[in-house]
Amino acid sequence: MNEMPKPVIDEATLDRFAAIVGARHALRDDADIAPYVTERRGLYPGLSHLVLRPGSVEEVSAILRLASETGTPVVPQGGNTGLVGGQMPDCSGRQIVLSLSRLNRIREVDFLSNTVTAEAGVVLQTLRDTADAADRLFPLALASQGSCQIGGNLSSNAGGTGVLAYGNARELCLGVEVVLPTGEIFDDLRKLKKDNTGYDLKNLFVGAEGTLGVITAAVLKLYPKPKGREVAWIGVESPDAALALYGLAADRAGAGLTAFELMSERTVSFVLKHVAGSLAPLAGSAPWHVLMEVSSGRSAQDARGLIEDVLSEAYVAGLILDAAIAANLAQGSAFWTLRESMSDAQRPEGASIKHDISVPVATIPEFIARGAAAVASVVPDARVVCFGHMGDGNLHYNVSQPEGGDGQAFLARYRDMNKAVHDIVRDLDGSISAEHGIGQLKRDELLATAPPVAIDLMRRVKAAFDPAGIMNPGKTI
Ligand SMILES: Cc1cc2nc3c(=O)[nH]c(=O)nc-3n(C[C@H](O)[C@H](O)[C@H](O)COP(=O)(O)OP(=O)(O)OC[C@H]3O[C@@H](n4cnc5c(N)ncnc54)[C@H](O)[C@@H]3O)c2cc1C
Repeated sequence: MNEMPKPVIDEATLDRFAAIVGARHALRDDADIAPYVTERRGLYPGLSHLVLRPGSVEEVSAILRLASETGTPVVPQGGNTGLVGGQMPDCSGRQIVLSLSRLNRIREVDFLSNTVTAEAGVVLQTLRDTADAADRLFPLALASQGSCQIGGNLSSNAGGTGVLAYGNARELCLGVEVVLPTGEIFDDLRKLKKDNTGYDLKNLFVGAEGTLGVITAAVLKLYPKPKGREVAWIGVESPDAALALYGLAADRAGAGLTAFELMSERTVSFVLKHVAGSLAPLAGSAPWHVLMEVSSGRSAQDARGLIEDVLSEAYVAGLILDAAIAANLAQGSAFWTLRESMSDAQRPEGASIKHDISVPVATIPEFIARGAAAVASVVPDARVVCFGHMGDGNLHYNVSQPEGGDGQAFLARYRDMNKAVHDIVRDLDGSISAEHGIGQLKRDELLATAPPVAIDLMRRVKAAFDPAGIMNPGKTI
């Protein structure tokens, strides 16, 4: 007779965890747990027998104290929009999921210090709306902003479309409140722009993907709302022309250049083909496209004048083929929607192999040229789908399977394709993860390719913060 599998966490321990948050917020039914162990692309299957939804920092602290005592691994989870599997438990059934969704209070808006103090479970869109209602801007902007949460944004050091002018999540964060694996609360919720008192502990938690502790709240920077904002869609001949245009725009607009996105013609054509209601911004086609945004703190006319000056100078210099400045807010939003639909528009084209890379901005044309040759050397008819935040040196360099080809056979070349593309990135002193993090997806590659001294330092940091190894094991390092 087959033996029944042993329960991976005993019932008594599960009961002790559940008692901390109350039965209502301790999910133990498979159907209730399912949304927390499933992510949108189905790439990282997970298994857990318990999801805890604490309602206070003290409850998070009690959970981690008990987790340390019982050696129970804990996987923090925010909006579950991460793309590298960092928020998913493994399949052992031993890991519990700690959802921060109920810690969703805005604790304070400080108008003079220009800060907002928000709990980890505040949804990014809610934070942006709160800032807007206070006549301020919170500039972190991602296509997932309707679901992702501040704790997840900070833990993955999210980027998005506002990085060029305002920086990524790390640069927007002044202070954090973190519960350590021991249950101790590290209260560093300060609003200081200047603070040179020893090691920068806050920044160890930002981007740590939940491997060092649980972020429960943060102080974030707010900015004045721009008085004018103009968006243009521009056709260019080549990545070299786009780079020259970027140089010109950055020089003329300075900090007013708030976005500079590059997209290949193929990427745009996928959106026009697959996204209902999308319209081509330009009358003709162009090999490459740029979405440029210019903002002014002074006035709408100032922004308009600035973008017109940049475009006419670029036209005279022969840098652009065609351009359309959005006639109104609705058209500007439509341009942005085209850009933000690019990931989704790739799905109907079959299997794809994705890369989220960054290189020095000046080397983007070289990367794109060498990348095309490298991709063709692995799968000759594969289709490069290249788009991204050119002003940040960050490209989503995706590769779709050959048209009408065998998706599984294509995916079997995943590692070879990654290696071919990432070898160029390393050669250009770039990064194999510009904004999505390491999670499960890139852990082996990080360990295999990062300088041994860097890995050793990261392991020592991990051991110092989490000696029992209960914080999100199997992720990042
Ligand atoms: C359509 C779409 C577009 C996207 N666009 C972008 C983009 O432009 N730029 C970008 O950077 N990312 C992007 N992402 C990825 C993702 O949205 C971001 O990484 C986001 O910041 C994750 O937030 P989340 O709350 O969903 O975190 P989750 O997915 O829940 O978790 C992400 C990581 O953070 C950890 N974590 C979560 N909360 C906490 C906490 N409170 N304390 C400690 N650790 C925690 C998790 O364990 C995990 O390792 C996109 C995703 C989608 C689906």
